[in-house]
Amino acid sequence: MFDILIIGGGPAGLTAALYAARAGRKAAVLEKEFAGGQIVNSPLVENYPAIAAISGAEFAENLQKQVEALGVAFINEEAVQITKEGDLFTAATSRGRSYAARTVILATGVSHRTLGLPAEEELIGAGISFCAVCDGAFYRGADVAVIGGGDTALQDALYLANICRTVYIVHRRDAFRAAAQLVNRAREKENIVLVTDSVPEEYLQEDNVVTGLAVKNKFTGERRELPVEGVFLAVGQVPQSGFLSGLVDLTPEGYIIAGEDCRTNIPGLFTAGDCRVKAVRQLTTAVGDGAVAALAACDLLDQEENEAQG
Ligand code: FAD
Repeated sequence: MFDILIIGGGPAGLTAALYAARAGRKAAVLEKEFAGGQIVNSPLVENYPAIAAISGAEFAENLQKQVEALGVAFINEEAVQITKEGDLFTAATSRGRSYAARTVILATGVSHRTLGLPAEEELIGAGISFCAVCDGAFYRGADVAVIGGGDTALQDALYLANICRTVYIVHRRDAFRAAAQLVNRAREKENIVLVTDSVPEEYLQEDNVVTGLAVKNKFTGERRELPVEGVFLAVGQVPQSGFLSGLVDLTPEGYIIAGEDCRTNIPGLFTAGDCRVKAVRQLTTAVGDGAVAALAACDLLDQEENEAQG
């Protein structure tokens, strides 16, 4: 039985584990893939206070080591159901195991959105990627496209521009949502081509491998075939909360409803990071949530123990 069971080992979950362990609580992290979450995919983090520049992989590794050194249990399994009976939670996992805990912190983050075009699922890994830093090297010297207009799309394009011959950024609008600094850097790169007011229409393929991307200008209707070998999707995120419906209040999009105190509608159930309703989804906000959620869980446990002692 754990005092605090954390679902998700991204920056929010690992920070929650750090605070829980330092408060003397028996904590565990359930992680379905690898510790670090999304930030592992970031080539360079330049907006974390007091660290001028660090790769996402190194950031994740440092955080994981810091948490492991405190004796937190890491369980490499996917939580598929959380139930509450009386005051106790049980997390069932994809391996058929179950773990009991007095409190639970949901820190499951988000996954990547796709475009919904024909053949997309089959082409993932055969020309379609969500991670420039993971897959960029496969396209050295080749032409690629990045779809999207936010920070992730622009960061990916800048990273790929150092590896690939041409990087097309396909964006449905004329203006970019991304930070002005990133947009300016992209405009200055000779091998980045902005394809604005355009939406992807079709993946071109040969033998089930991407050979191009057809895009359509929203205003002129003109179709253009970009001769790319790789398409990097950076078009938004979906909260990883499907397994929580019926347990906790979610928005229609699936974000877990909780305020800045990270408390959900269920006593003893907390949430932290990108999976929570919030305006800004960044490392700083994820780690902030992790600290708040863990300390809130510790408070509740202290209260229960004080009451039990009379
Ligand atoms: P996540 O990082 O999404 O972690 C959630 C974890 O939960 C994952 O490891 C997942 O496998 C696990 N999980 C989910 N469901 C389950 C389940 N059922 N059972 C067990 N485990 C589960 N932010 C910045 O501040 N600066 C940047 O420069 C920056 N660059 C980025 C670049 C890229 C390419 C991306 C994708 C994101 C970037 N971000 C950046 C955003 C930042 O990475 C996220 O805001 C942050 O990782 C959110 O942390 P999190 O712990 O809430 O969620």
